[in-house]
Amino acid sequence: APAIVKPIYFFDEADGKNKMLLGGKGAGLAEMTRLGLPVPPGFIITTEICEKFYEAGRRLPDGLMDEVRRSISRLESLTGKKFGDPQNPLLVSVRSGAPVSMPGMMDTILNLGLNDETVEGLSRKSNDPRFAWDAYRRFIQMFGKIVLGVDDRKFDSILAGKDLSNPKVLKDIAMSFKSLCEGTGGKKFPADPYKQLELAIDAVFRSWTGKRAVEYRKQHNITPDMAGGTAVTIVTMVFGNMGSDSCTGVVFTRDPETGEKQLYGDYLINAQGEDVVSGRATPNHIDSLVSEMPDVYQQLLGVCEKLESHFKEPQDVEFTVEKGRLYILQTRAAKMNAVAAVKTSIDLYHEGLITKTAALERIDPEGLEQILYRRIDPHVKQKAIATGIGASPGAASGIAVFDVAQAEALGKKGEKVILVREDTKPDDVPAFFQSVGILTSRGGKTSHAAVVARGMGKPCVVGCSQIEIDAEGKSFSVGGKKVVVSEGQKITIDGSTGRVYVGEIPTVEPEISSEFKELLQWSSEMKGIKIRANADTVESAALARKYGAEGIGLCRTERMFNQHDRIMQFVSMIMAENEEERRRALAELEPLQKSDFKAILREMNGLPVTIRLLDPPLHEFLPKEEDLMQKIFELKSSSAKPSEIARIEKILHRVHELSEINPMLGHRGVRMGISFPEIYETQIRSICEAAAELAKEGVAVEPQIMVPQVGLVEELAAVRQIFESVKREVEHRHRIKLKIKFGSMIEVVRACLVADDIAHLVDFISFGTNDLTQATFSFSREDAEGKFLPFYLEKGIVSVNPFQSIDRKGVGRLMKMAVDMARKEKKDIEIGICGEHGGDPRSIEFCSTAGLDYVSASSHRIPIAILAAAQSAI
Ligand code: ADP
Ligand code: MG
Ligand code: MG
Repeated sequence: APAIVKPIYFFDEADGKNKMLLGGKGAGLAEMTRLGLPVPPGFIITTEICEKFYEAGRRLPDGLMDEVRRSISRLESLTGKKFGDPQNPLLVSVRSGAPVSMPGMMDTILNLGLNDETVEGLSRKSNDPRFAWDAYRRFIQMFGKIVLGVDDRKFDSILAGKDLSNPKVLKDIAMSFKSLCEGTGGKKFPADPYKQLELAIDAVFRSWTGKRAVEYRKQHNITPDMAGGTAVTIVTMVFGNMGSDSCTGVVFTRDPETGEKQLYGDYLINAQGEDVVSGRATPNHIDSLVSEMPDVYQQLLGVCEKLESHFKEPQDVEFTVEKGRLYILQTRAAKMNAVAAVKTSIDLYHEGLITKTAALERIDPEGLEQILYRRIDPHVKQKAIATGIGASPGAASGIAVFDVAQAEALGKKGEKVILVREDTKPDDVPAFFQSVGILTSRGGKTSHAAVVARGMGKPCVVGCSQIEIDAEGKSFSVGGKKVVVSEGQKITIDGSTGRVYVGEIPTVEPEISSEFKELLQWSSEMKGIKIRANADTVESAALARKYGAEGIGLCRTERMFNQHDRIMQFVSMIMAENEEERRRALAELEPLQKSDFKAILREMNGLPVTIRLLDPPLHEFLPKEEDLMQKIFELKSSSAKPSEIARIEKILHRVHELSEINPMLGHRGVRMGISFPEIYETQIRSICEAAAELAKEGVAVEPQIMVPQVGLVEELAAVRQIFESVKREVEHRHRIKLKIKFGSMIEVVRACLVADDIAHLVDFISFGTNDLTQATFSFSREDAEGKFLPFYLEKGIVSVNPFQSIDRKGVGRLMKMAVDMARKEKKDIEIGICGEHGGDPRSIEFCSTAGLDYVSASSHRIPIAILAAAQSAI
């Protein structure tokens, strides 16, 4: 038999810990009642009844209203007032409240129980007709809007310009409101308080599936098992609108912007409910309550302290003062920004309220982004013109530039440039270096632009589909042609929020507070898995070390070619038609690579540095076919020198030769290393030479050489041979012994399947989960994110983007298998993960449990990774 459901709980009998049943608001009121705080009496209709309401096809369960009547009579005896009594009416509020906080998303009705008779009673009893009619007109408005579906703006237009301190005017307003409701609904406005109550309860349950609430749950990933419905909480009304010794307000027990331990909030004298947040009047700062109502202020301070020590979490509290008497109407955990979250965590620990683990657990690692990057000054009021996907955090202002060459040229001159493109390709990278930010109208968080920008720590907004780019006309527009931004005009982007602004918006520097340092310190002590950085430059390596990275897990050599003016030498290496030519070009590149490696190894001072040999297909470094054709066309029509035309035609020819149907599955990584062994040979020699020279200087070094795209052990064996002979040769020349680890990436499905054989040949393996995810799903990342993944997410086919967070069931299982096989073959083999997932908290948790030795995350995200690692070790 189904368990008998108790539909209603009074505040003083409910278990305030049971938010699932009572909703957050009801549970908080129950808890506060038990703590002896001044909460007006009331009761809760549970979330179970909400579920029943929907099961029954949006009908209140039979018998519920009888229970409600019984509860109201208990309220009557508790308050000494009577529901619907023209002499001394009891009024209540009917409030929504889900197990998960959804501020303002559902509906609440105040002053319920008023009608043309009880309003007179209220007026006589309070001896304040203004107050009584004010309460009544508010009730009609809320009831009309929420229950009867009257357009709120119609009420507002009746209110406009009226003198709300005059009781006669208020009465007229109330009557006009009523006729408005009756005109819209075609029915008499319900006068019977129980009818009002029934309709209000029904409306609150309905608001659970209202558009606003559904959208909110979607945005915040609130699933039915986290909140299956709303409770309805019915509370005896107390009145903040009974004159100058009454008020209503909201107070945070600590400042949610800075975390300072001081009351933060607003209140309004002679006002009710929503007035404070509605923005209709400017409220007073809570500090003025000290002088306006000193006793109340002291009492409020006491309440706040009690709440904090009970909930062990700063609270956001609603209160009302009725003729000098304080009432508390709601409490919930205060939402705060990352700065405040960090500060309060450290403070609550030092105040002895929470443990170190609890202090770490209450901080969202992702949220730390706010602290680690430059951001828009929070005081700025200017609105964004468009919002895309925040793909690489930080804020930057600069002039919009639509052309890669132009961006590079202007950037070199010291101009602050924001590169605006539909999407980006690897050969746009030199322009990234010269830009302060990147904005694209297409692509997702793992699109090329996003990945590269994150690696460089440059602010980037992608997938900003609201902007229409006219690359030819060098401008973009928003909302038809409402806003047009042309080349050279200043814009500001915020890569954390994805917002785009016109003009230069003030930004603020990230601040590493002493609390933040303490937090990192604790996290480092508590975490198990090691944290390394993805870093290709000395600056990035230095930042990683500053944050406490324990090495570099991925140094991409191709990034070094993109840098500076080396791309030219690199291009001539690619253009080489035979080995001899290629070797000549490589000989020019070798010293450049060596000096890069030396600088990074020196910076890391003995910490491991994993260097990946060249990975992307060569053609990525050449200009695009259509650009070359265009160029040739221009040269020909301007009667340029034949030699110049021939030069470009030669490049075009090479582009054709190198072009592939599926470049990401084509001639790249180790496959290229095998067909052009001199490329890897040169890279390996640069690394060995760098190590040898530094060792001679007495600098501690620990380079690791990593081969990408391995699927066959035979591929690896071939590169290993090159590695050994080059190493021997360098050791011989410098007369020293080099300690260099040799390893393989595991990013091809076959590599997972033969991980034991691979382990046999290497000192370490490192999962490249970007490629492994693509290969496991047979999804191409760019296409997936651009076309169908958003749809999959919406339909619930996948719950998270597998390129953002490791897919545990599939990719994760392959990884686990590979780890087991590799460790069986070689117990102490070092295993890590590099690539995007290394900085994702959920993936870090997975890697910790899968027994990896380290994760590698982009330098800027090291603190996030350290905190996430600590949390997964708790
Ligand atoms: P929300 O979830 O949107 O905050 P609430 O149910 O908390 O909605 O109520 C809206 C406003 O009405 C709040 O300011 C609250 O303090 C006030 N309020 C709710 N119930 C009462 C009551 N019984 N007496 C006085 N004010 C109330
Ligand atoms: Mg509230
Ligand atoms: Mg890869």
